[in-house]
Amino acid sequence: MVVMVVTVKEICDNVTLAREMAMLGNYESAEVYYEGSIQMISRLILMIPEPLRKNKWQQVQKKVASEYNEIKVLKSMLQTLRLETNVEVPIGARRLRDEPVHDSLDLQEDTFGAPHDPDVWPPPTPVDHGYMQRNSFSKPRLSNLKKPEPKKGASRASSSNTTRRSDVRSIKTGKKEDRPSSSKSERNPEGKADKEKDVDSNEKNDKAETEEEKKFECHGMERELADVLERDIVQKNPNIHWDDIADLHEAKRLLEEAVVLPMWMPEFFKGIRRPWKGVLMVGPPGTGKTMLAKAVATECGTTFFNVSSSTLTSKYRGESEKMVRLLFEMARFYAPSTIFIDEIDSLCSRRGSESEHEASRRVKSELLVQMDGITANNDEPGKVVMVLAATNFPWDIDEALRRRLEKRIYIPLPTQEGREALLKINLREVKLDPDVNLSEIAEKLDGFSGADITNVCRDASMMSMRRKIYGLKPDQIKQLPKEELDLPVTNRDFEEALLKNNKSVSKDDLDKYEKWMNEFGSS
Ligand code: ADP
Repeated sequence: MVVMVVTVKEICDNVTLAREMAMLGNYESAEVYYEGSIQMISRLILMIPEPLRKNKWQQVQKKVASEYNEIKVLKSMLQTLRLETNVEVPIGARRLRDEPVHDSLDLQEDTFGAPHDPDVWPPPTPVDHGYMQRNSFSKPRLSNLKKPEPKKGASRASSSNTTRRSDVRSIKTGKKEDRPSSSKSERNPEGKADKEKDVDSNEKNDKAETEEEKKFECHGMERELADVLERDIVQKNPNIHWDDIADLHEAKRLLEEAVVLPMWMPEFFKGIRRPWKGVLMVGPPGTGKTMLAKAVATECGTTFFNVSSSTLTSKYRGESEKMVRLLFEMARFYAPSTIFIDEIDSLCSRRGSESEHEASRRVKSELLVQMDGITANNDEPGKVVMVLAATNFPWDIDEALRRRLEKRIYIPLPTQEGREALLKINLREVKLDPDVNLSEIAEKLDGFSGADITNVCRDASMMSMRRKIYGLKPDQIKQLPKEELDLPVTNRDFEEALLKNNKSVSKDDLDKYEKWMNEFGSS
């Protein structure tokens, strides 16, 4: 085996370049340099015999890796923000924070654009209320199911192939909004006739639109908490469709039956057929549970409340139970709604267990009360509220809550067919060498989760570029023709990526899930 010699100077140069690129906002190149630096340090570490020096270099590597991660997070955030700019937001409206695209992306920007700790919320600030949230959901696209046409005059948006204004579910705060168009007409009462006409028609449109908007009224501290919920928890169009999710046919079918159909046919799902109070998705991390929840909200066009348990427990200490109550009140108000609670185990660890803390006990009790309240509410047609929860640790869930999450479904590791589909989804934007056989690669990925497979694909698609730019200076890299970098992904790239990425779920973990599902599962 040929071991390439690495010098400390080379490492320093690469790290310096990575930082420079990052400072200049050139995150793509920064990533390349960070990746290269980390690899070089790994090689250097292999060559160092003295433990003390080795340890020092491991610390350096850790530091560089953490900077690299921050750059990745920043890049994803920018992508999210870029996507957001495509969403229709009225003039003067304050953009609501969206849920990050990546599961790993926990950093969000505060009002001033600086990243802040996701577990610490700022105190409620008086909100200007000059914003209006628009949840733009698309028409249900399930191939095998037809949504009944809404009745005439019903408040739900009508179905259409294109997203029209009336298809947009919007959430508005209880206070009056700044309306640039009307204030303009007030300021200029003697304006030109055509301008007045424009203003008039704008006002008419606004009025028609306002008729479809509902206001969630509450006051004082509750108003502020509601604003926080609207800003951080109500998610705009999650834009994940069933087709974006590979495999998991059984899970999709169960979710359709348990969540989607009751939303579409509330009259049918009554009495003994009443919808489940809650659905729990159980399975190893990175198998697509969050994606499924987002697809449910997208396909149903429901208002989507995306809550992580840590949000409810650690943020806003002392207000958590109020937050839970308000969350359900808002969900009822904006029904049909889907409340997705991720990592529900951390909210509802078994009662009396060591980790149970007084505050979390109160939050848990409030959640149980609210879930019981859902049953009565769900009898009202069109007012369905569904709780969809996810956990990687089902055995940690309180039995009282487990009972309320009546439907418990397993989200497994992908099958051979699923792994192939995941490879296709992940590699749809890159060129593949004709020798690459995705079915063979899928076999090698047996035991990998969806997220693991995404990582392998990402690595494989970068391999040839890494080899090309290895040891080059930025100027030389910039001069490389695009065709030389954007080479088809080869079998060798996959082999190298497979050496670098291991599966994240162990056989023991899988046995634990199987045992728990045998005992408590219901599908
Ligand atoms: P979980 O909530 O189960 O931990 P996620 O839904 O957050 O997992 O998935 C993590 C990432 O893994 C997704 O962003 C996606 O890239 C990939 N992924 C996992 N499962 C699938 C799947 N079935 N289809 C498509 N992508 C998947």
